[in-house]
Amino acid sequence: MKLIGAHVSAAGGVFNAPTNAEKINANAFALFTKNQRQWVAKPLEADAIAAFKARCAQLGYNADAILPHDSYLINLGAPETEKLEKSRAAFIDEMSRCNQLGLHLLNFHPGSHLKKISEKDCLKLIAESINLAHQEVSDVVAVIENTAGQGSNLGWRFEHLAEIIDQVEDKSRVGVCIDTCHTFAAGYDLSSETATDRTFAEFDNVVGMHYLRGMHLNDSKGGLGSHLDRHHSLGEGEIGWDCFRYLMRDDRFNNIPLILETINPDIWHQEIATLRAFAAEK
Ligand SMILES: [Zn+2]
Ligand SMILES: [Zn+2]
Repeated sequence: MKLIGAHVSAAGGVFNAPTNAEKINANAFALFTKNQRQWVAKPLEADAIAAFKARCAQLGYNADAILPHDSYLINLGAPETEKLEKSRAAFIDEMSRCNQLGLHLLNFHPGSHLKKISEKDCLKLIAESINLAHQEVSDVVAVIENTAGQGSNLGWRFEHLAEIIDQVEDKSRVGVCIDTCHTFAAGYDLSSETATDRTFAEFDNVVGMHYLRGMHLNDSKGGLGSHLDRHHSLGEGEIGWDCFRYLMRDDRFNNIPLILETINPDIWHQEIATLRAFAAEK
């Protein structure tokens, strides 16, 4: 089954996210479990946790269909000790919030070397950060999102993802989220079915499809290899519909959250309907 949704608002409390997902006819969703632009958040309250679990159960969202995203401030490969420790503490807090909510996945951007350390050293710090979080929190899978490679952000080459995974001790608790906009901007072509097929063959070869735990479905304002992280509505950017039709008709993308982060929430329900129609063509 295709689990299709969007990154919905959790304003007013995490328990509002499943309700917002239901409004757009999604059977999956993403959310922030705290304000994504702040370092510290107050702990989740017991009644908010209970309300979140109750609404998810009532609306039929199980943990496999929910892909929480961590704060944008966190840099698990930060070259400076103070920033690295702050990031690691915040990441452990994010992971434990997921655990409290009964969720099994945590999507995050790998990190940035800020031109102060080598790529290799940065990737090593990221893997160590994941290992530390695994020691502190049980059950939650660290889901590394590929990036567009803007600035000094790592994780845009599939080899970066493989190098991180290689150094993670518990391979059962590490995975990857492929964002189509980031992939395309990083230089992997998705602009036709043939190109998409080739790109996922390369992903399978370098990383392995079994590590794919979620996807972000976004079109791209930037061109192939532009390294611009600029999302667009499906079919309106440089990628076009072929890639999304391909994904919907391929069973390798079943039973993982497929999340829209496209720029116009007013048409999310239409984008989801179009994707479901592709899936039904099969
Ligand atoms: Zn992201
Ligand atoms: Zn994304």
